[in-house]
Order: sequence, then C-alpha cells, then structure tokens
Amino acid sequence: MARIVIVGGGVSGLSLAYRLQQQLPTAEITVLEKNNRLGGCIGTVQHAGFRIEIGPNGFLDNKQSTLNLCRDLGLGAGLVRASEAAARNRFLMLRGKMHQLPSSPLAFLTSGVVSWRAKLALLTERFRSPRPDLKDESIDAFARRRTSAEIADTLVDAFVTGIHAGDPGLLSVRAAFPRFAELERQYGSLSKGMAHAARQRRAEAAARGETPTRQQMWSFPEGLGRLIDTLRQQLKTPPLAGVTVRQLERAPERGWIVRGEGQERWDADVVVLACPAYQQASLVADLDAELADWIGGIAYNCIAVVALGFRRAEIAHPLEGFGYLTPGRERRDVLGVQWCSSIYPGRAPEGMVLLRALCGGWHRPEMLGWDEQRLLTAVRQELRHALGIVADPVMHFLWRWERAIPQYHLGHLERLARIEERSGRYPGLFVAGNAFHGVSLNDCTEQAEMLSARIKILLAH
Ligand SMILES: Cc1cc2nc3c(=O)[nH]c(=O)nc-3n(C[C@H](O)[C@H](O)[C@H](O)COP(=O)(O)OP(=O)(O)OC[C@H]3O[C@@H](n4cnc5c(N)ncnc54)[C@H](O)[C@@H]3O)c2cc1C
Repeated sequence: MARIVIVGGGVSGLSLAYRLQQQLPTAEITVLEKNNRLGGCIGTVQHAGFRIEIGPNGFLDNKQSTLNLCRDLGLGAGLVRASEAAARNRFLMLRGKMHQLPSSPLAFLTSGVVSWRAKLALLTERFRSPRPDLKDESIDAFARRRTSAEIADTLVDAFVTGIHAGDPGLLSVRAAFPRFAELERQYGSLSKGMAHAARQRRAEAAARGETPTRQQMWSFPEGLGRLIDTLRQQLKTPPLAGVTVRQLERAPERGWIVRGEGQERWDADVVVLACPAYQQASLVADLDAELADWIGGIAYNCIAVVALGFRRAEIAHPLEGFGYLTPGRERRDVLGVQWCSSIYPGRAPEGMVLLRALCGGWHRPEMLGWDEQRLLTAVRQELRHALGIVADPVMHFLWRWERAIPQYHLGHLERLARIEERSGRYPGLFVAGNAFHGVSLNDCTEQAEMLSARIKILLAH
C-alpha cells in the first residue's frame, strides 16, 4: 500500500488528497496542517451575525477545475453565483473619483473612465506588431507596449491589484498572466485573440443548445468554508490539524521521513509540499540548499482584510455591484472594497450590509503594522470618500495576512524550471501550492488534478 504525505491543508493540499483518493483508492493519504483550522487562505468566519471571508471571496468559471471539484464532492446544487448586479457593475477609483467600468465596447467608447487617446490605443491594439522574441516582460511593460501608458496606469494596474495586489512593473506577464502572452503569440494581438475566443465560446454554447454567458464568480451561501468542510468530511483519513512539519529526510532505503514536533514522524513513499514557498524552502534546506534558495526566493505581499457591517438604512449609496478597485500606484489606503452582501446571499443579517476592504498589498506593507484603530479609521475615511458612508459601523472584523499572495516576479518561469529540475532529482518529492503555477483557486484545484495523475504514474512503476 502506497503511503503519501501532503504537508499543508489549504485548498491545494486538500484537493490533491481528494483527487489522489479517487485515483489510488488503496493508498494511505495523510494531510498534515500546521494550524488548528484547515483551509489556509480560505476561511469563512461568523461574526456578530455576519458571514465574512478572510481570504478568497469566490472562484471564476473561466476554468472548470473548481466547479468540477464541487460537483464531484456533491456540492453542485449548493453553489451560488454572484448576483446579476455584481456581475454587471464594477467600479474603479481613479484620480480620487469613482468610475463605473464599461461592460461593452460601446459603453467603453462613451465612458469617461480614460481619455480618448487611451481609447484609441485600445482600439488600435490589433494593429500593433507582436513582440518577435519570448523574453520575459513585466505586465506593465506589456500593457504600455500593446496599448498606452494611461491604460497601463489605470485599467491594467487596477486589474493587477484585484488579482495579485502586486506591482505591475515587477510581475512577469508570462508567469502571472500567461493568457495575455499566449494570445499575443498565437494571434498577434490581444483583441484579435479575445474576439476569436469569444466566437469559439458562442459556437460551443450554440452546439450545446445554450446561450453563451459571460465569466461568472461562484461561492456557497455558507461561504467558501463549505468547500473546505466537505473536503475534510470526504477524505477517508481525516487531515491532521495542529501538526507543524519541521523536517524532511530521505529514508535509508527509499522513501521519506516527515518529522513533526518532538517524536512525531510519518514514513512515506511520496511527499508533497503544499505549504507556502517560504515554509517549503525551510523544509528542503538540509536536503538541497540550492532548491531551497530557488523556492525561498518567491516573494509574498501582505494584506489586511477589514470587514465592516452597517445598517442598510444609514447608507444612501445603492451598493448595486461587486465593489471597486484602486490602481496600486495611486497609493490609497485601500486596494479595493467588495460589497459582499450585494454579491452573494446570506452575508449580512436582514437590514444590514457587509463591506470588505483590502489594505496593504505590495506597495503599502507598512499598513500591516498599523493597529486596529488606525486601520479602521483609514478604511472609514476611504468609505466616506468613495461611497459617502458616514454612519458608524455596527460591526467590524480584522484579519491580517503577513504573507498573503505569492508574487510571480520577472524570472519566475526560469525559477520554476530550476525548481522542477532540482526537485526532480528526488524521486517521490513534489512541490505544489499557489507559489508556482497560478494563485487562483482554479489554478490550485487544476494543479491537484494534474499532480494526482503524475503521482499515480510514478507509483505504478
Ligand atoms: C486575501 C486573499 C484574497 C484572495 N481572493 C481570491 C479570490 O477571490 N479568488 C481566488 O481564486 N483566489 C483568491 N486568493 C488566492 C487563493 O485564496 C490562494 O492562492 C489559495 O487559497 C492558496 O491555497 P494553497 O493551499 O496553495 O495555500 P495556503 O492556503 O496558503 O495553504 C497552505 C497551508 O500550509 C500550512 N502550513 C504552512 N507551513 C506548514 C508546516 N510546516 N506544516 C504543516 N502545514 C503547514 C498553512 O497553515 C496553510 O494552511 C486570495 C488570497 C488571499 C490571501
């Protein structure tokens, strides 16, 4: 019977354990999680009658992996998609003013979100020649080259803030936004590539007899914690929470010894490190210092999540939409605010609304050191400025992520190749998690599908 140990009980580790259980029903699969709570970045907290996400707010259906996982777990009927208003209305805070993001090309042309010069640059993107080489380039340089400085500074910066809360000048377009680089390579331009993809989606939907829908965001009325609870319940061997893995050693003959605190140890044929990169680096440091350096060099940003509850009647703003984002370069005190109770049902008690502000990010790490009062004051000032909210909150909740989202900086793909090459020297050792091939939940659950297939092949030989 194969013994597999997974270090880290976030969505990467748990979904991998579930996929392995399907692929290798007789294997003994042990998930070891440092915290007393499973889920890592994912967590839904009940506080004063509000349902608050401390991390992700949902997942997109641009890839099918998380939807498939939910369906396989029997959660398909329990999913809820973001409201119509949230899907339609998204806002940007630009130069201190709120702008609605146009939802169609015509609306874009008539909107005041960017200047006519920037609109022209976007419209003529299809005529710009593609880059002849495959050299790495930042998302900022990519956007400037394909469109204009203004588009890079506004729309692209805000988009980057929404996903990575990072610096567009440092993030590699090929690693962090592979689709953009691929569309340029394949079609010569993003707009041509996107138009082609849209035509394909329409044709596929028509073939299925369906009306094509735009990309949607999904969660559960109970919050994303439901996914983690269900994964835990459906694993034959319950994950062990409150276990910090301290050391990884090669066993004398073959396989691995995973050591926790004190005398705790697990023997394994396969070990998967699905904890954050900086933890993986310390676990492989004695085994391979160079591998540890490559993994440990992946930078993380920090994020403070500040949730506030208000009485609906005390807010004049309609809050019909998803929320707003601020380009990181504007260096405001919030990166964005999600109007949680307008997105999914069940987030706030009757007659109340729940807002969630994200602060910090790559440009404002000092905010993580602010005390609760200072953070609350900063967020309330932003809410007053952006949404006209002057009422006192009925509830607040704060969560700090000292190391939140890994940043795929320039050279990330080269780093991955080195990590792949060096970790490949150790049969039965795998690195996984959001530090390598994508930070979204879809990327993590997709990786679980692929890695479980690889491990099955390895164990068959
Ligand atoms: C604030 C925030 C908002 C986000 N919003 C979205 C969103 O809306 N949509 C989306 O798709 N993605 C979003 N993401 C990204 C997504 O949530 C993460 O990329 C994903 O959840 C990471 O999962 P993981 O399992 O790879 O890592 P983690 O969730 O970090 O899990 C790793 C686990 O390893 C454990 N661990 C660490 N060291 C050890 C050790 N020595 N021994 C044992 N266990 C250990 C940790 O405690 C942790 O539980 C967001 C992330 C954050 C922080």
